[in-house]
Amino acid sequence: MLDKILIANRGEIALRIQRACRELGIKTVAVYSKADAKQKHVLLADESVCIGPPESANSYLNMPSIISAAEVTDSMAIHPGYGFLAENGDFAEQVEESGYSFIGPKSETIKLMGNKINAKDAVKEVEINCIPGSDSALGEDIDKIYQLADEIGYPVLIKAAAGGGGKGMRIAHTKANLQHTMDITKAESKSAFGDDTIFMEKLLEEPRHIEFQVLADQHGNAVCLGDRDCSMQRNHQKIIEEAPAPKIPEEKRKEMIEKCVSFCKYIGYQSAGTLEFLYENNEFYFIEMNTRLQVEHPVTEMITGIDIVKEQIKVAMGLPLSIKQEDIIQRGHAIECRINAEDSKTFTPSPGKVTLWHPPGGPGIRIDSHLYTGYEVPPYYDSMIAKVIAKANTRESAITRMGIALSEMIVEGIETNLELQIEIMQHNAFKRGGTDIHYLEKRLGL
Ligand code: ADP
Repeated sequence: MLDKILIANRGEIALRIQRACRELGIKTVAVYSKADAKQKHVLLADESVCIGPPESANSYLNMPSIISAAEVTDSMAIHPGYGFLAENGDFAEQVEESGYSFIGPKSETIKLMGNKINAKDAVKEVEINCIPGSDSALGEDIDKIYQLADEIGYPVLIKAAAGGGGKGMRIAHTKANLQHTMDITKAESKSAFGDDTIFMEKLLEEPRHIEFQVLADQHGNAVCLGDRDCSMQRNHQKIIEEAPAPKIPEEKRKEMIEKCVSFCKYIGYQSAGTLEFLYENNEFYFIEMNTRLQVEHPVTEMITGIDIVKEQIKVAMGLPLSIKQEDIIQRGHAIECRINAEDSKTFTPSPGKVTLWHPPGGPGIRIDSHLYTGYEVPPYYDSMIAKVIAKANTRESAITRMGIALSEMIVEGIETNLELQIEIMQHNAFKRGGTDIHYLEKRLGL
């Protein structure tokens, strides 16, 4: 049994994990930077340890500090949440080697899937399609690269194998700018991820981003909780997610669920994870696997009734999954809107003191947020301050519920993207369902 878990994260996800621990009767340790001493989960934790200055490089990314905090508090496991060290295979390895459970997959799985080229190779083994492109890292032979780009057809996308968070991805529209695009993607990748391996993919023109949530235990059991549509994006960053994805033929969904389960079993996956795909012309093309909990996990929880974080913790304790594939039934429809502290028009971050916070409520509404009136949004981290999740029997009613919830919500003192989210709920294209990943940027004229 794990009776004390250290949560190596901040904000809404730290609070979400803490709530799951409390339901399971597990004590929690919050670690925080100097900027976060008054975070809700820090105030609510059984114990808390300051791990460094505000800059995440010296606090939430500081592996020795976090592991020392686990030592001094006698924690048994570390939950990394998402972002920060959640997909850092070296961190998972150090946690394991220091004698703690890492609440996530094995470090070797994180490392394997953290390289997008290796991940694509791995999924091909269970007949999952990948986006056409270079099957391996791009080398030095530029003529060979030009030839490959001609075969794939312009525009092509140059991607960092170690990329993440929408970074390390650039489009080459013609042969004339291919070399330059490769050079800057390489340089960007080296500085952001410490690895300059790049590869090439066809740029899909009108795809949707659809992903499948999986859960697997240490005993070889794996299930897939279904799909989410995360096509509403700006700058390759999701802002609205929903489950199930609209307008997907049932046969196709079933086929993908089976393939995702086979893949988990094939690589001996453990914990929660997500296989991400682009969907175009009735075909799914794998882009990457996230070996962690995702921001958008609540939409799946709302329609399946399964608590993904609790399952993740139980798996880390060595318990078998409490659900079988045939037990998973999706009921209704759920939508999540990410509320960011940013200017609605310019998208520049808007940190500062929240002078009034009034979250919405009502049937089918879930709010995952660490805000409270008087809370100071620090300028150092991701700008997401709340997730509003609306669930109803149909997609149409979920959109109506979301619209009402957003209109009730009050955040004063800082700028947010609330107005934009309210507007999107009223767009006819969103209401019809199935908009592609470029929809929002086109609509915003970006
Ligand atoms: P990251 O790891 O940075 O999140 P992903 O590979 O998951 O990167 O891609 C993020 C987003 O970038 C996708 O949701 C999609 O919007 C866009 N994208 C990625 N690959 C392609 C592609 N080949 N064609 C078109 N868009 C793509």
